Amino acid sequence: MQICTLAMRGLFLSLMRRATPAFRPWAAGAVFYLLGMPVYGNTPGNTPRAQQGPDPAIVAALGAVSPARVQATIEKLVSFHTRSTLSSGAPPAGAPSGQGIVAAREWIRGEFERYSQACGGCLEVKTDGFTEPAGDRVPKPTEIVNVYAILRGSDTEEAKRIVLVTGHYDSRNSDNDDAVAAAPGANDDASGTAVSLECARVLSRLKFPATIVFLTVAGEEQGLYGSAHFAKVVKEKMAKEQGWRLAAVLNNDIVGGDRSEGRNPDTVRVFSEGIPLSASADDVRRIRGLGGESDSASRQIARYIAETATTFDTGLKPTLVFRPDRYLRGGDHSAFNAQGFAGVRFTEYRENYNHQHQNVRTENGIEYGDLPKFVDYDYVAKVARLNAATLASLASAPAPPGNVRLQTKELQNDSTLTWDAVPRAANYEVLWRDTTSPTWDHWEPAGGETHATLKMSKDNVIFAVRSVDASGHRSLAVAPQPER
Ligand SMILES: [Zn+2]
Repeated sequence: MQICTLAMRGLFLSLMRRATPAFRPWAAGAVFYLLGMPVYGNTPGNTPRAQQGPDPAIVAALGAVSPARVQATIEKLVSFHTRSTLSSGAPPAGAPSGQGIVAAREWIRGEFERYSQACGGCLEVKTDGFTEPAGDRVPKPTEIVNVYAILRGSDTEEAKRIVLVTGHYDSRNSDNDDAVAAAPGANDDASGTAVSLECARVLSRLKFPATIVFLTVAGEEQGLYGSAHFAKVVKEKMAKEQGWRLAAVLNNDIVGGDRSEGRNPDTVRVFSEGIPLSASADDVRRIRGLGGESDSASRQIARYIAETATTFDTGLKPTLVFRPDRYLRGGDHSAFNAQGFAGVRFTEYRENYNHQHQNVRTENGIEYGDLPKFVDYDYVAKVARLNAATLASLASAPAPPGNVRLQTKELQNDSTLTWDAVPRAANYEVLWRDTTSPTWDHWEPAGGETHATLKMSKDNVIFAVRSVDASGHRSLAVAPQPER
């Protein structure tokens, strides 16, 4: 089937090259007529990915995600006894060396460097360190260091577009100020750290036009300090000095698939903000006017993840939860959302609170503590595959179309969308859904054009536009702004 498609494409292209310009439309029609294929807007080279099957290079990378490697990473992180951010100072008297958060972060850095050696130095391994002054949740000035690796995009311009995966490597026990007693943090959040590391290991074998950042942060348990600092550095430094455009943040926190009763190993929750945390009063007024509460850039990432799970076999069907985080709770993605970056949170379907933020102990026959034995490594590997598939798809795709507009000058039942072309896009697609539907249920190719008119009313559905490259990699969808 694939060979047949390629042969047809070859025949088509050679005929089109030979045909004179005036003859080309006829030649195209004749070729399709002879092959019994329908003639429609897009060219055969632009067959959407869903019709082509998943990108084989990405499938191969996902196949390399290893539950055994995930297990080794989590057990190693637990072996540091505590990864309390407050253990970054001089170790307490009698504490064995090689324990605590400093040893843990040095090990993480070493892992990134090892992956980099395996791909000929393809990763840039870096740290982002600072001293958090004493405050309510940090009793004394405390060193916090984020460790990350950059897989730089192969296209100079597109390399400025960044997709990022993160997890927090710090841990805690029952007392958040306790930097001495055991705080294994196997699920919270060695599991998320393992996802970031495993994505780095398997994706560093590939090259992408856009850049992927594999991040691990500290200070989460004290108040998202590490991610808040990193998000600010991106906004105030990387964006200005290097032109970084951070397009998507995937935060993994508590993705261990706790093995207790009531769990669901076939799904992972994906939390996304509706009205952006960074929205100004004017933004909120505009969003309210458009009924755009469910079309933030973060929510488009959630929808993208849902679609990615249907394209690639990761073993997980994500459950989209349309709220910023668990009820009244927060995580590292919120720190990025606060700086105006789109980002979502992955968390297992059902948490066991005996196994997080607890001193390791047994009371009345109940085991407390965040221990490796409660973690399902196959589950963490599935979450890593879904993250890797999403990162790889986003980094392969062209940038989303720019300046997407819905024409509203005239009252009419047709809907016309316009947008700006972006480099490497071979095709654009218009998507739509009922206003009550969570996901993009319909789409139609718009060819290489930068406008489309659809025979349906903008009053009844929600539209978006996305870019597609010649191999079928799709960008994030962009909901339009009205053009009067
Ligand atoms: Zn956590």
